[in-house]
Amino acid sequence: MIKINENFLELQDSYLFATISRKVAEFTKENPNCKVIKLGIGDVTRPIPEAVLDAMHKATDEMGRKEDFRGYGPEQGYDFLREKIRDNDFKTRGVDIDIDEIFISDGAKCDCGNIVDIFAQDNKVAITDPVYPVYLDTNVMSGRSGKYDSKTGKYENIVYIPVTSENDFVPEFPKEKVDMIYLCYPNNPTGTTLNKEQLKKWVDYAKENKAIILFDAAYEAFISDEDVPHSIYEIEGAKEVAIEFRSFSKTAGFTGLRCAFIVIPKELNGYTEKGEKVQLNKLWNRRHCTKFNGVSYVTQRAAEAVYSEEGKKQIKENINYYKENAKIIKKGLEEAGYTVYGGTNSPYVWLKLPDGIKSWDFFDKLLKEANVVGTPGVGFGPSGEGYFRLTGFGTKENTEEAIERIKNMK
Ligand code: PLP
Repeated sequence: MIKINENFLELQDSYLFATISRKVAEFTKENPNCKVIKLGIGDVTRPIPEAVLDAMHKATDEMGRKEDFRGYGPEQGYDFLREKIRDNDFKTRGVDIDIDEIFISDGAKCDCGNIVDIFAQDNKVAITDPVYPVYLDTNVMSGRSGKYDSKTGKYENIVYIPVTSENDFVPEFPKEKVDMIYLCYPNNPTGTTLNKEQLKKWVDYAKENKAIILFDAAYEAFISDEDVPHSIYEIEGAKEVAIEFRSFSKTAGFTGLRCAFIVIPKELNGYTEKGEKVQLNKLWNRRHCTKFNGVSYVTQRAAEAVYSEEGKKQIKENINYYKENAKIIKKGLEEAGYTVYGGTNSPYVWLKLPDGIKSWDFFDKLLKEANVVGTPGVGFGPSGEGYFRLTGFGTKENTEEAIERIKNMK
């Protein structure tokens, strides 16, 4: 009899985006003449920058020439890309990372999900709430969550750290001891950040508790404030306690191309049951090489071009475009009397709904009265109830129109 991994049965169906699609489809059917504007998406919309496209074309031609053809590449990624990452993402910020601490992959989602493989099942996991759902679900799948309680919307063995307007979106240390801590900054969905001093406290906490920080910096490119770190390794001591996830998806429009990387410093150790130290870099290298055969050569050449002078300029233009949209949303909503967070170092704007209004009720109202689609905050975790996410990933014209419509709502 083939038995299943019963942990999967503990997963809660994710109704969020399916429910949004269904509600929008129903509304459009009933109101065929309404122009619905979608500001709910977390996907980029601007095309791949020219410098990146050129590099891809060149690499594709190489693959067709006998003398330049490449088969399997190194599982960890080509040195030409790892060196560019080391020099541009880290050296420029005073951070010393070796190329063999960088592993190229096909997405931060896979990396965030796969990393759980190298940790023991009885580690205690802490997530901020609300949060990108992948951290939670992958720990449910791997048996760390315990049972789900439908009354609280929480799993019994997961430690939820609420981040709301009440604590200024700064996560407080959990009361009980935890081993794996997920931090995502700039944050999806709240669009908020931690400054160096705030992040330093978490690095110190992890050190004291022999815990690890899994730091998701997928939105790093949207940071403009000086005191917001782009990498956790800008914080002293972080190399001993943190793994960092990066992605080209939102930085350079790679959501459809797929390229990302993970950084695991050699100073970073985990422990055996007996308390012996084991280098996590080695464990991950073994896992990565066994289960992954590398990102395509063409894609890695595309990612390399992100670091060329032209590439940098072009991706900056795209990021500024999205940030301008986020600014329009933030300013417009504030003028309309709403309390709004994020939107400065992030493409996400997090709207606090007036007292007593629930996320899904606001979704329905916005769709009906302004024909605008956003994402209910509660879909990202129980502490997201009463909040709503809008994104800067639409077109400028649609963003401006959507905000005008929201302003005119009763
Ligand atoms: N991490 C966060 C916080 C995200 O919001 C997303 C995508 O929305 C990802 C990771 C996934 O990135 P990738 O496209 O590299 O898989």
